[in-house]
Amino acid sequence: GFVDEASEWAAKGIDITVPSIARTYDVVLRGKDNFAVDRAFVDEIVKVVPEIYDVATFNREVLGRAVRYMVGQGVRQFLDLGSGLPTVENTHQAAQSVAPGSRVAYVDNDPIVLAHGKAILAENDRTAVVTADLRDPAGVLSDPEIRRLIDFGEPVGLMLVGILHHLHDDEDPQGIVDAYLAAIPSGSYVFITSFCNSSPEAAAAEKQYLALLGTGRFRTPAEITAWFDGLDLLEPGVVPNPLWRPDRPVDTDLTVGQRLIYGGLARKP
Ligand code: SAM
Repeated sequence: GFVDEASEWAAKGIDITVPSIARTYDVVLRGKDNFAVDRAFVDEIVKVVPEIYDVATFNREVLGRAVRYMVGQGVRQFLDLGSGLPTVENTHQAAQSVAPGSRVAYVDNDPIVLAHGKAILAENDRTAVVTADLRDPAGVLSDPEIRRLIDFGEPVGLMLVGILHHLHDDEDPQGIVDAYLAAIPSGSYVFITSFCNSSPEAAAAEKQYLALLGTGRFRTPAEITAWFDGLDLLEPGVVPNPLWRPDRPVDTDLTVGQRLIYGGLARKP
C-alpha cells in the first residue's frame, strides 16, 4: 500500500507525502517521474493559471535558445544550477548538438534528479549530475566532479533557469548569484529565468506556490533585472520568455502564461 511505497522511497531520501519542486515541474512537462501529491499541487495551480503546462514548455524552449546562443559565442562549458529532472532537450543535448565537445555539470538538491537523471544527464564523459545545494556556492564550486568538468579559467555559461524564484528573499538570491559570478572569468555568461509578478493571476499563483509548495516568489521585472547588475545585459533585456530571441515569429500580445516567466542573458565584462 501507500505506506510501504512511501517508506521505500523515503529510504532513497525521496518524500512522496509532500510535493517537490523537481517533481511538480516534471508534471507540467508531462514527465513520468512524479507522484499523486505532485499532480494534486499542479491541479491547484491550474485553477489560477490554466496555461501552466505551456509555461513550462516556454521555459524549456528559451533554455535551448540561450544555450545555443552561448555556444555560438564560443562557450563550451555550462554550470546548470537547479537543473531539474531530465526532459526533452537538456542543456548538454542543446550544447552538444552544436558543439559536441561541450561540457555540462548539472546541480540539483533533489535526490530524485540523481535517481532518474544519472542515465540521461550523465550519458557521456562530458556531463555529470551532482547532488548539492546551490545556496552553498563555496561547496558547489569546490566539488571535485564539477572541477573535473569545468575549467574556471575559461568562459562558463552559468544557468539559473526557473530556480531563483524558489529562493526566499532572506536567502539572498543576489548574494548567491554574485558568488558564482565571482568564480567565473570575463567573457562568461549568465542566463536567468524567473517567475514574474506580471498579472493578477501571477499574484494568485504566488500565494498557492508559497502555501502548498513552500517556495515560489514572483518578482518584478526590475528585481529580476537587478540580478544582472554590473554585467552587460544583452538585447532584448529581461523579457517574457517567448520574446527572448525567438526563433519564429511571435504575437507580442502575450497571454498570462506567456508572461509568467521572464528571462535574460548577460555577459561578464
Ligand atoms: N532548470 C530547469 C528548467 O528551468 O527547466 C529546472 C527548473 S525546476 C523548476 C527547479 C529545480 O531546482 C528543481 O529540480 C529543484 O529540485 C531544484 N532546486 C530547488 N532548490 C534548490 C537548491 N537549493 N539547490 C539545488 N537545486 C535546487
